[in-house]
Amino acid sequence: MQISSMHFKARAHESLDNAQLQKNLVKFKTKFVTARRTGIAELDDFEGTREAGRAIRQRGLDNLDVWLATFERNAAARGATVLFAQTPAEVNRLVLGIACHHGVRKIIKSKSMVSEESALDHAIEGAGMTVVETDLGEYILQINDYEPPSHIIGPALHKSKEEVAELFARKHGTPRKDVIEELTLEARGVLRQHYLTADMGISGGNFFVAETGSVVIVTNECNATLGTTLPKVHVAISGIEKVVPTLEDVATLMRLLPRSATGQSISNYVDILTGTKGPGEFHGAEHMYFILVDSGRSDVLASEVREALRCIRCGACMNHCPVYQNVGGHSYGWVYPGPIGAILTPMYVGLENALELPHASTFCNQCGVVCPVKIPLPDLQRKLREREFAEHYRPWSERAALRLWAWFARRPKLYAVASRLGVRLLRSLAGPQGMIHKLPFGGEWTRQRDMPAPAGRTFRELYAQRKGSSR
Ligand code: SF4
Repeated sequence: MQISSMHFKARAHESLDNAQLQKNLVKFKTKFVTARRTGIAELDDFEGTREAGRAIRQRGLDNLDVWLATFERNAAARGATVLFAQTPAEVNRLVLGIACHHGVRKIIKSKSMVSEESALDHAIEGAGMTVVETDLGEYILQINDYEPPSHIIGPALHKSKEEVAELFARKHGTPRKDVIEELTLEARGVLRQHYLTADMGISGGNFFVAETGSVVIVTNECNATLGTTLPKVHVAISGIEKVVPTLEDVATLMRLLPRSATGQSISNYVDILTGTKGPGEFHGAEHMYFILVDSGRSDVLASEVREALRCIRCGACMNHCPVYQNVGGHSYGWVYPGPIGAILTPMYVGLENALELPHASTFCNQCGVVCPVKIPLPDLQRKLREREFAEHYRPWSERAALRLWAWFARRPKLYAVASRLGVRLLRSLAGPQGMIHKLPFGGEWTRQRDMPAPAGRTFRELYAQRKGSSR
């Protein structure tokens, strides 16, 4: 997928000026947040389960080499072939090699974010084969000239029902339908023939289970079940970090994943696929391949932001992020949006290609609070900001301002005087409603919204006054 994360600011402004997108994004501010709240309330001990989830994912990462070797051994014992890809280009090469080996003409795909990293669909089409996305959101984006996904669990959530109705009528050549169920039935009718005529199915993998050599795929649409069992060849692609030690670990993580994502206690479909079709078995692929992708993950594991690899791709951090809620997923310019994308993207595509992403945060820590595997997202973003500063990636004005602030911060008396002056100056800029419409030297802050003016006195002054009056 093309990387345009360097243009985060410009794209964010475009999104803020897009009235239709702003209307479509409202659901992030209500629907998902409410659903998650209801979903986690069902669990007796959500925080205890969350801690268990954190420990499971960390245990997997701490000995990743061992679990990968165990997974490879057990998957091979059940007839599957395990392949490793170092780069996105290698993912595409391996997939095309498998397809050629089995004489594949048509491929059906269920959602795989890793395959977005390597633009696998384009590589397949470039090799003269047909590829059909079967996740409804991905299908919508594919027929809309491969529009990029904007959310990791709902790739087309930025689109309204009306936009999809118009797209289907145009691309399918059918009368326009305005009821969601009718639109879904129409897509199902189109996709069904592809399930029955495809030679190969490609899926992602929510978890790879080391003790059994299985892949676990979580969906709500059954497309992964059909796509991995009807064609004769199944290829599951995912990052190396998705290996978990045991099936029992998966059970714990499954108490967290759907609840954090959509508020469901369990997803509609959870496929656990182990090995190729055995003698006398009706369902399953005759040939099964796993492609475990590094593409920068080893570097993340060795870095100061390694905890980001615990991510189970639930999407809760973006659903709760005030930045994502307002600018949407396309602004982030690559596969992974939101707070987790603000960490993974710079690590996978290079910090110099995504300089603004670690700054796409208010540090309110909503993301850190809701993350089901306790990734300290704002802390990790701050570490990337520190790296940008240390590697001289920030503009001289910002570096000079920070140096000035640090100089004052080391001189508490002077700092107190400067703060007193500063809050009074800001107060004087406020309009009658107590809001600042234009901030000197901070125009970006007030370009899209007003800023509440401070009280006119510093926190220390107010605290001293309150202490004095309570005596
Ligand atoms: S970082 Fe946490 S909240 Fe965000 S997608 Fe990953 S697991 Fe979910």
